[in-house]
Amino acid sequence: MSDSYIDRELSGLMVEQDLLLKWHEQDLADIISDVGFSCLLCGRCCTTEFNCHVFLLDADAERVMAMNPSLLIPAPEFELADEEGNFYVSGYALRVREDGSCIFLTDTRCRIYDERFTICRIYPYMLHREPDRRKNLEFRQISGLNEHGEYHCPISEDDALTFARETIAYEKAYLAQMIGFYRAVRALFEQKNTRHIRAGYDRRIQEFRKGAPVVVNVWFQGTFVPVTVRREDYLGFGWP
Ligand code: SF4
Repeated sequence: MSDSYIDRELSGLMVEQDLLLKWHEQDLADIISDVGFSCLLCGRCCTTEFNCHVFLLDADAERVMAMNPSLLIPAPEFELADEEGNFYVSGYALRVREDGSCIFLTDTRCRIYDERFTICRIYPYMLHREPDRRKNLEFRQISGLNEHGEYHCPISEDDALTFARETIAYEKAYLAQMIGFYRAVRALFEQKNTRHIRAGYDRRIQEFRKGAPVVVNVWFQGTFVPVTVRREDYLGFGWP
């Protein structure tokens, strides 16, 4: 049974991947120099007030797994559900405290700053995928919310190029993880003769919100890891 929703998501991701390949490091480095973000150590970017969650690439999740597996949580918001009410998600996120602060944040400082995760290293230069006026998907660089840090500070050409390289590498790895996830779910759903139905997904989220434990299959290292979670696990995320 073909799942048209998954097919659509996959083809959207493939379009994003093609667009990403057209980005030149030097162009992004020029934008980064122009933005000139400088951190004021307010720590706000490490909270769910500013960023919904720290999504971990597989390599990052492996490091957390080695440090302390209980710091990992299936990333909100789960992408898919099968007809039995089991969820599927493209990777892990870092847990947050009930106030929404990252588990590694202490007094506005990162306790693992030198070893922080890929998404934390490239912040706030992530690329955002948005449709333009003609509804063609574009990658844009929007650099945070202008509500923290300082802008238009000098950045050396070398540093800007390094940020650009790391940002593009992150985006490529992120898309590869997402594409791997959707392909694997499509194959699994075909095998199980099930599919993602939005109404069923919403119903199961309602049950989760009311306190029912749910099984989330997390895409990690090329396989699905079943994890049982409850609403309390997500208090600091302000979700579901
Ligand atoms: S790991 Fe460190 S840099 Fe990344 S969100 Fe947490 S406190 Fe911030």
